[in-house]
Amino acid sequence: PIYLDHNAGAPMRPTVRDAMIDALNDTGNASSVHGHGRKARGRIEKARQRVARLCGAKTRAVTFVSGATEANMTALTPIWQDQGAPLYLDKLIRSAVEHPSVLSGGRFAVKDQRVVPVDSNGIVDLEELAKLLDSEDSCLVSIMAANNETGVIQPFAEIGALVRENDALFHVDAVQAAGRMPIDMEAWHADAVSVSAHKFGGPQGIGALVVRSTARVPAPLINGGGQENWRRSGTENVAAIAGFGEAAERALDDLDCVEQIGAARDRLEAGIQALCPGAIVFGKDAPRLANTTCFAVEGIPAETALIAFDLEHVSVSSGSACSSGKVSASHVLSAMGYSEEIARGAIRVSLGWDTGTRHIDRFLEVWPKIIDRLNPQARTRAA
Ligand code: PMP
Repeated sequence: PIYLDHNAGAPMRPTVRDAMIDALNDTGNASSVHGHGRKARGRIEKARQRVARLCGAKTRAVTFVSGATEANMTALTPIWQDQGAPLYLDKLIRSAVEHPSVLSGGRFAVKDQRVVPVDSNGIVDLEELAKLLDSEDSCLVSIMAANNETGVIQPFAEIGALVRENDALFHVDAVQAAGRMPIDMEAWHADAVSVSAHKFGGPQGIGALVVRSTARVPAPLINGGGQENWRRSGTENVAAIAGFGEAAERALDDLDCVEQIGAARDRLEAGIQALCPGAIVFGKDAPRLANTTCFAVEGIPAETALIAFDLEHVSVSSGSACSSGKVSASHVLSAMGYSEEIARGAIRVSLGWDTGTRHIDRFLEVWPKIIDRLNPQARTRAA
């Protein structure tokens, strides 16, 4: 079987599995003062350092949560604390292409949410953002670093500078960026960043909200025993956190292989377009993550294509398949101006730490078979 769906979830790295088993073999609650507890605490604090390094942040900036959905929900609150005193934010400004966990608006009322449009490549409209920032008093801006469907990278340093000029706060969903491009909260002027372990070879169900300034933190989503410096209560999942830390370290190493991954992705795209010159590659003219391609071929619905790939034991995804298993037209592609029919053809292929030449070879071997089975005319249809 060939796995090419890293943006949905990367395979667990062997060293992560080892780190988790090691932690699972221990007993103890990290809040306990005895030796068992201190050992668990040690594992958590080591992981915190490693996750901080991945995000270019200070160790104490990292709060472990159950994943990026929770990190986003926590960040998206109108109440932040500024040195203990509440800091109230009037509005949330987000882009039209965010992950559903940001689209939901978190704890902001619907009437307090504003949406920045994107262009045909999926890049946010900076003029519109500037106008929105101008017309509102105190805002939180939440814009993702790189899109999960298309891999398109936002001009986050420019966005961050605009946000900073307007005294607003800036949250970045960096889930798809982690391990695929450097995360630099300082350069991005980001106040908070969300990451999730399972996108780069860690376990599912663990992530982090990284908040740059210790003086300003979002009001907790989950209150209780005061774990994670009162930012997220509940007994820590030590094994998952240890695995997260190990994956973060390995993801930083992956940054050295970005060019290689990009070359593999480009070979795949060239192969798709060589057979079907009319294939549309979404966001092709924008900066994109090296590991992602999202494309559509007229007359090939993604739903049917995915089944055909699956019969060949190749796992890819439709443009928008984060959760439900059913293929619906993607809000990302509609925001980019594509028709529902084209959006329904979007197939996403995403590479990662375990992708080798044989994965790409196999994809390109089954691609002509799938086209011939589903719509042979697509071979000749021009761009
Ligand atoms: N943001 C983005 C950009 C994502 O791709 C995902 C996962 N599909 C999430 C947030 C949610 O992450 P998690 O699965 O850890 O809740």
